[in-house]
Amino acid sequence: MNIKINSNFKNIKETYLFSEISQRVKRYSEANPGKDIIRLGIGDVTLPLPSVVTSAMKIAAGEMGEQKTFRGYPPESGYPFLKSAVQSHYQRYGVSLDISEIFISDGAKSDLGNLVDILGSNKVIIPDPVYPVYVDSNLMNGNNISLISGSKENGFLPMPDQITGDAAEPAVIYICSPNNPTGAAYNSEQLAKWVEYALGTGSLIIYDSAYEAFITQDDLPHSIYEIKGAYECAVEVCSFSKFAGFTGVRCGWTIVPQKLTADDGTSLNKMWLRRQSTKFNGVSYPVQAAAEAALTPEGMKQCLSNIEYYRRNAALIGEVLDSKGIFYTGGRNSPYIWLECPDKMGSWEFFDMLLNKAQIVGTPGEGFGEAGEGYFRITSFGTYENTVRACDRLREIL
Ligand code: PLP
Repeated sequence: MNIKINSNFKNIKETYLFSEISQRVKRYSEANPGKDIIRLGIGDVTLPLPSVVTSAMKIAAGEMGEQKTFRGYPPESGYPFLKSAVQSHYQRYGVSLDISEIFISDGAKSDLGNLVDILGSNKVIIPDPVYPVYVDSNLMNGNNISLISGSKENGFLPMPDQITGDAAEPAVIYICSPNNPTGAAYNSEQLAKWVEYALGTGSLIIYDSAYEAFITQDDLPHSIYEIKGAYECAVEVCSFSKFAGFTGVRCGWTIVPQKLTADDGTSLNKMWLRRQSTKFNGVSYPVQAAAEAALTPEGMKQCLSNIEYYRRNAALIGEVLDSKGIFYTGGRNSPYIWLECPDKMGSWEFFDMLLNKAQIVGTPGEGFGEAGEGYFRITSFGTYENTVRACDRLREIL
């Protein structure tokens, strides 16, 4: 063929992280047959869907098989019943949204990756370490990225005073709170500084709140719209994946406030509606019915009970690290525990040590960005029994 490709794809690093992990684990298992390996590297939920969710899904699937209740293409931005449920969900946090500002999708990853479609060539600011989708989707569009580093000093919560270059230049700023992989979450005061920066420079914040359901502390906002002024500068992307166990079901939402306008006055809400209507045909009815069920009082109760299960695991791991005096972030408002590798070990060196001495698999921090070197992610998504056993081993070897 003589067609040209999007050469920006050549700038994307190969994602070797999880394949490298599985290769190392495979090599270890082959050399040490019968060894009992505990996997705490899992970034996916493991508990089954709450019963209220599966019941709603089954009823909706039945409706699709009856002439009277069959439904064809769903609305691109979601059924009104689910949008209303999301609207009510935000009211729990004191946030009022117009229905037209809510867009239902097949998950946060798609929206986070697709938002670049409606944005031009801007300065892009992304925290390091972070969920890799922000960096890769901007690289695919040929955008220049400025990384702002998380560190022990800032508690892995980079702040606007770390931004280099022209401080007045408008930017597209990604914020993930609670963060994957660090588990660190911004409090209201810190988020207010980001909103103030965005309003002062005419910047846009893309706020990823996929892990908001894990927040327990009162001073940590669940939504950026809890911060005054955020309606004028922020898009928020959220998901049913971690809150309701929808990683395999696929549903999420994005909020694009009507007040967001670009430098030429164009409405970002209208652009996103146009983008979605052109390239997306909506989420299936049974999935949206299931998502609505997750947001009912009984659904919330069942979802939060699953989250409580993961929280208990996180607390156990945190106790071991506390007792060993190891610095870590996360665990309290997040399923992720991000620890400093002891004895100044590198991320991969620590990975090998854990695997060889304790048969525990985690995720080397370096895989989430340069600032992750020397750190390590352990997750609470394993079973309680395995987490207890892993903690016993950690206590012995750390
Ligand atoms: N945002 C963050 C920070 C994540 O860690 C993940 C998944 O791990 C997602 C978004 C993706 O969410 P979804 O399953 O809704 O695509």
